[in-house]
Amino acid sequence: MSVNHTTMPLYLGAHVSAAGGIANAPKNAANIGATAFALFTRNQRRWEHAPLQASEIAAFQQACDQYGFNAAQILPHDSYLINLGHPETTGLEKSRRAFIAEMQRCEQLGLTLLNFHPGSHLKKISIDDCLQRISDSINLALAETQGVTAVIENTAGQGSNLGHSFEQLAQIIDGVEDKSRVGVCLDTCHMFTAGYDLRSEAACQASFQQFDRTVGLQYLKGMHLNDSKNPLNSRVDRHDSIGVGEIGHHGFAYIVSQPWSRGIPLILETIRPEIWPEEIATLRQWATTVQAV
Ligand SMILES: [Zn+2]
Ligand SMILES: [Zn+2]
Repeated sequence: MSVNHTTMPLYLGAHVSAAGGIANAPKNAANIGATAFALFTRNQRRWEHAPLQASEIAAFQQACDQYGFNAAQILPHDSYLINLGHPETTGLEKSRRAFIAEMQRCEQLGLTLLNFHPGSHLKKISIDDCLQRISDSINLALAETQGVTAVIENTAGQGSNLGHSFEQLAQIIDGVEDKSRVGVCLDTCHMFTAGYDLRSEAACQASFQQFDRTVGLQYLKGMHLNDSKNPLNSRVDRHDSIGVGEIGHHGFAYIVSQPWSRGIPLILETIRPEIWPEEIATLRQWATTVQAV
């Protein structure tokens, strides 16, 4: 393993609401005891959006300062509509324009990471062709922006979504010119339903070693901590609360006690926001308990 973050703090939080304005997100995160958060910087289900106003940027940055969040603790998520591997020119260009705009919003806000789903071939082009388009899309976005890392999220492999195997993630990264501004966000539910077992310490060890060998832990820039309603290798993406799904608590206790999960945002996207404070507290306890042994 090439990363040692042992001295780094545990950044733990959830994907919080930015309703009423993005400046509300840091407060919503602080209210659940989070030291990290994810947010949409715009309406994620629409193509069009107004540019950020200077007042919104200032209010967001002031709220981050007030509640003690810096860029390393914040993992914005892009719009669900974007498909950076789109098989058709019109869809691809629209997606690329929207993605560049999202990267620029992060840049304006002083954020350094943007989490996105890689893309889908829609059964119209080959897997290799689609992966190449995704790499090219990332290259275009990196050329248009500064200081923001494109963070590829692994998928469950539902439908024609790519990025479910570590090999595919590695292939996308391979096609990116500036390796210093590309990374991976591993979603545990997606990993598990894509076939990587996380149900025991031994299973976790094997799965993360495989990630390290194939992609490299140095590319891990964030995680989504979700249990899964569906079984191993089911290729179906249904999140569950921590410890009560098919993964169970061992996997999460393992992850939060690893040196490589320190200093990167660990984000809950679990299904019951009302228990996020307890989930965060429990994960924090598991991190200290295991490390004390
Ligand atoms: Zn996720
Ligand atoms: Zn998911």
